[in-house]
Amino acid sequence: MQVFQQKSALLTFIKTSKNAHLSIGFVPTMGALHAGHLSLMQQSLTQNDLTIVSIFVNPTQFNNSEDLEKYPRTLQNDVEKMKLLNDKIVVFAPSIKDMYGTNTVSESFDFDGLEFEMEGKHRPGHFDGVGTIVKKLFDFVEPDKAYFGEKDFQQLQIVRKMVEKLQIPVEIIPCEIFREANGLAMSSRNERLTQDERNQAAVIYQVLKSVKEKCKTEPLNEIQSWVARQFENIPSFTLEYFEIANEKTLKSTENLNNTSDLRAFIAVFVNNIRLIDNISLK
Ligand code: AMP
Repeated sequence: MQVFQQKSALLTFIKTSKNAHLSIGFVPTMGALHAGHLSLMQQSLTQNDLTIVSIFVNPTQFNNSEDLEKYPRTLQNDVEKMKLLNDKIVVFAPSIKDMYGTNTVSESFDFDGLEFEMEGKHRPGHFDGVGTIVKKLFDFVEPDKAYFGEKDFQQLQIVRKMVEKLQIPVEIIPCEIFREANGLAMSSRNERLTQDERNQAAVIYQVLKSVKEKCKTEPLNEIQSWVARQFENIPSFTLEYFEIANEKTLKSTENLNNTSDLRAFIAVFVNNIRLIDNISLK
């Protein structure tokens, strides 16, 4: 399995692959890989000649220094997991200096307002950091297709918006949310939960599934109060936001008559670990 830790070495490899007319599928990640990440890679493997996976904990997208510091970094383990999936996967695990030089700052983006909703309100600067790193990676990987999970639905829409506005020639492929057996959306942050917390966190998806049912008969304000109550009862859980929003604009809506373009979004703290999830209301 090839693991590149330097951009220059990867660039040479990509040039050779492009000359051989190989199609490139790209899966950007921050590592601490789980089955959700592997499902993105699997999809890329079936649709492209070559699959490149980046593993880079991007400092500019963290608005909380403790979260950045505690983010799991498990490169060796990650490489073993990818080897088991398919040892032809090409891994790119650069240093911060290689990606940012001496200036680890974000570019400023205009995502037509998508960046000010939900995650954007609670994580200032987060999407500028995401845009910065994804653009840098797209610039030199030049993938034909790039794979993003619906787990981070707002991020997916923001990347689509960036690609459209900057006319980057890449197809963005959305991938379904992978869940634990108890319904908890897989996340690298789950590794920081205790077993008890992991079990209890199943409530997040249960709430989302109930919301989907309730939307058929109940008004939004009743649904919102019901959701808030579900988390008030669990001392270590704090609901940060719950919103029902349009999938394209990400603006919250009060009108539940036509749910075909709507999605429910949630962010919950389990002690100091922040978990997000969402569900289509279609
Ligand atoms: P991350 O390493 O958390 O930045 O995630 C890398 C990519 O994997 C992103 O496109 C995520 O949306 C996606 N991803 C993370 N968790 C899941 C999941 N449970 N199911 C599907 N995709 C996921």
